[in-house]
Amino acid sequence: METRLSNARGYLEDLDAILLCSRPNITYVSGYTGSDALLLFTSEEAALFVDSRNTTQARQETPLSVHEITRKWEDLAGHLTEKGIKTLGIESNSLDVDSFLVMNELFTGIEMTPLGKQLLYLRAKKEEQEIGRLLKAAEVARLSLLTVLDKGLVGKRERDVALDLEWHMRLRGAQAPSFELIVASGWRSALPHGVASEKVIESGEPVVIDFGCVLDGYCSDETVTVFTGEPDPEFIRMYDHVRAAQEEALNGIVSGLKTKDLDNLARTYLATHGLAEYFGHGLGHGVGMEVHEMPSVSSLSNDVLDEGMVITIEPGVYLPGRFGIRLEDTVLVRDSSCKRITNIDKGIIRVISQR
Ligand code: ZN
Ligand code: ZN
Repeated sequence: METRLSNARGYLEDLDAILLCSRPNITYVSGYTGSDALLLFTSEEAALFVDSRNTTQARQETPLSVHEITRKWEDLAGHLTEKGIKTLGIESNSLDVDSFLVMNELFTGIEMTPLGKQLLYLRAKKEEQEIGRLLKAAEVARLSLLTVLDKGLVGKRERDVALDLEWHMRLRGAQAPSFELIVASGWRSALPHGVASEKVIESGEPVVIDFGCVLDGYCSDETVTVFTGEPDPEFIRMYDHVRAAQEEALNGIVSGLKTKDLDNLARTYLATHGLAEYFGHGLGHGVGMEVHEMPSVSSLSNDVLDEGMVITIEPGVYLPGRFGIRLEDTVLVRDSSCKRITNIDKGIIRVISQR
């Protein structure tokens, strides 16, 4: 926890203090897992501000000093004045406009600097303990998916499959799914964000299942594209290309590589097989306490891979109105390779029809 606070202090530079207001960053730096808190730190001090509903929990969870406040922004303004803070970094990406307007009015003589973008990198590199949690979340999700696939997909609505998957993840200890689960079958598999619908899964269809759960505060993220029955040669050919594009990227992971170059490995592979136009989204993203974290793995990103980052590699091809295929794994970036966090083999999974 001390390392995390001292890393966070690295963002102070010339500022007197930084105010954290996003729950994941506050939990990360303080250990407090509850809601509705503010965390203020300078190079010397760090304090958590909560209201009376959360004081007991905060005192139990964080080694930092805990201040109970009743009028959030007014009390904080008083504290800032008392400490003589003149320059303050704020999490501009998670503050709402109303809060900002109130702060602007109350924090007289204090210059606020937006640090939203920069602070997203605070959690990019994972510690051993975090990697352990990410592995556990991925394992719970994997076992749950296998249970659901075992029961068959044909004749079921996509949303019932998603619900069953969520149910099994929760039964195994997950707090929640890490995002709205995607179960997209048949023509809907060509929708990159095809959240589970009323559509009934038929025999002889591809089904993209993008799933994950939150366990001990950490998210998992993985995608399989299964086939109900025996796939035709066109599907197999396309599938093999997506898989090869994913392998290309996985094998290219090395610390120091620009993520846009990693994205380009998969994209170039698909381009040489005439499929680049069917792959519209970025190759991947960081995963941790939130399912989308830094770094961003895309052609638009200036991020650079570093040992300890956890990222997804998720190429896909989507033929509108026909079908789509996406394969996604979450991996830990190492010095000159990567280690898988998600572990389902990405060979074609045939789900035998049964009701
Ligand atoms: Zn995903
Ligand atoms: Zn993802």
